Amino acid sequence: MGPRVLFSAPADWWPLYEPHLRRACAAEGVSPEFLTEADGGRIDYIVHRPGGPVEGFSGFPGLKAVLSLWAGVEALVGEPTLDVPLVRMIDESLTAGMAEWVAGHVLRHHLGMDAHVLGQDGVWRNGIIPPLARERSVGVLGMGALGTASARMLTGIGFRVHGWSRRLREVDWVVTRSGPEGFREVLAASEILVLLLPATPGTASVMDAAAFAALPRGAVVINPGRGALIDDGALLAALDSGHLAHATLDVFREEPLPPAHPFWAHPRVTVTPHIASETRPETASEAIARNIRRGEDGEAFVGLVDRAAGY
Ligand code: NAP
Repeated sequence: MGPRVLFSAPADWWPLYEPHLRRACAAEGVSPEFLTEADGGRIDYIVHRPGGPVEGFSGFPGLKAVLSLWAGVEALVGEPTLDVPLVRMIDESLTAGMAEWVAGHVLRHHLGMDAHVLGQDGVWRNGIIPPLARERSVGVLGMGALGTASARMLTGIGFRVHGWSRRLREVDWVVTRSGPEGFREVLAASEILVLLLPATPGTASVMDAAAFAALPRGAVVINPGRGALIDDGALLAALDSGHLAHATLDVFREEPLPPAHPFWAHPRVTVTPHIASETRPETASEAIARNIRRGEDGEAFVGLVDRAAGY
């Protein structure tokens, strides 16, 4: 008998995932029994996305792992009832989508596109000559699955990319750093800064007043990581003083962003509604199936969360 897998997500997600999960599991040579509600019997794996029926994990003796459909696992990592491996989503399509979103928003600011896209007012603004990408430095905080793919995309366009991570990583064509000194060096070099860190105690408000002050005057901040990375008040102050030129924000401390939040009306803030990149059922199912197969074969999970580090 195959493993029993509980798919815990909002109800409309199961029809999107079912055919892909069944196909991907068959390709991996595993034949799970899928459930969308607990039935009191043994459950081997829980595929989890917030908003589904499972909120705590104490009622699942013998559970082997929780497989998150999200890359960001801050909502699960401190869950006291979770005492089995937690595996985050590494989905090649989510990764590709993030790199494309980052490249698009970096290019918007690099090329000064707003001057033409928003200024359809009869003024012939032909004096704007942006530098070439090779003359522009972009910083990427967080050089994991998403940060590395974004950095690679940016170096492919020609940007000079500086990356920062907890442990020093070597990535072709990217100047990589770690530690507090490396943090300051990356900030000082970042005309455009992309935040792709996870939300953990170690990254909370990493972008505070001192960090914004360390960016070059006129810098742009792009945050598709998590809202908790930014001290909102410090960001607004840095924008209002003119030190920062713009912030493009996809993620917020409270989501949906409340209608009265000053970010909505600020002329130098672009708000996007947590759409930078989404888990895609077809490829995410392959990642889930691969991890079920690995779990059954006693192999290490891909994307195993280090719960002490928080990501
Ligand atoms: P990941 O592979 O776990 O990478 C995280 C990166 O952050 C790693 O390079 C890690 O360093 C670094 N890091 C963690 N804590 C740090 C610290 N205290 N100081 C310095 N660096 C630190 O995660 P990912 O898959 O790239 O995803 C990143 C985040 O993107 C997710 O956690 C999620 O919040 C966000 N996300 C957003 C969307 C969206 O649509 N907006 C979609 C998906 C994900 P090491 O390399 O040393 O481990």
